Amino acid sequence: MIHLKRKNILACMIILSLFASCAAINRLNIFSHKEEVELGRQAAREVDRSVRLYRDPVVRAYIDSLGQALVRASGLSEFRYYFKVVDAPEINAFALPGGYIYVNLGLIKAAETESELAGVIGHEIGHVEERHGAKQVTKLIGVSALVEFIHGEGDPSLNRKIAGYFAGLGGNMVALKYGRAAERESDKFAIQCLLNAGVHPDGLARFFETLLKLHKSQPSGVKVWFSTHPPTQSRIDFVRSEIAKLPSTVGLKKTSAQFKQIRDRVLRRR
Ligand SMILES: [Zn+2]
Repeated sequence: MIHLKRKNILACMIILSLFASCAAINRLNIFSHKEEVELGRQAAREVDRSVRLYRDPVVRAYIDSLGQALVRASGLSEFRYYFKVVDAPEINAFALPGGYIYVNLGLIKAAETESELAGVIGHEIGHVEERHGAKQVTKLIGVSALVEFIHGEGDPSLNRKIAGYFAGLGGNMVALKYGRAAERESDKFAIQCLLNAGVHPDGLARFFETLLKLHKSQPSGVKVWFSTHPPTQSRIDFVRSEIAKLPSTVGLKKTSAQFKQIRDRVLRRR
């Protein structure tokens, strides 16, 4: 009995200290690399079932090669990446833990240059590399899992919780919110990633400006993006201030003939 009480006190202390520091709970990740890859694989299976994947091999190959080039430029990744194109008109892209990245056709249509598209993909790679998905799942289930762990219920219950979490989310994984700090972290990651790949990082800021314009003319098409990645003026200013710190952006690529061909191909489809 005394032992249980001491365990309860310990649990309360840990939980209180986690709540006391928002930053700490935002950065906590209870998943190992292997578990995170498995988490992403399961989530990707759910998403693949709930969205319509775009089958055009030319468009898929282009998105995959652009994405893989950005992954290589960002350094040695622990993850194997899978880039998928979703046949949906909404302007959106999202990342699942472990290297699964989805790009909507609406995003390819809305991007005016390759650097804009690369900016968004670089940002999503940032979410994977910074392990924001696993940290977010930890945040959502972590405290209750910790309580169960301390009370000795152990892993089977935790696994049930994780499975339940994904079953509940289903296709709504696309609306996973990471929070402002994580968004900034991914924006910074994208800037460096684009620079390393020889692509102009201003594409990211320009894409946010495109979204702001579209929000006025066709708000429904950018609704999801606005709820998960608010492209506010302060965010654009932040991206531009980070770019201004770079030694030079002279000669960086803004677009490519291949991007134009792919965009024309996608625009002709509808
Ligand atoms: Zn984001």
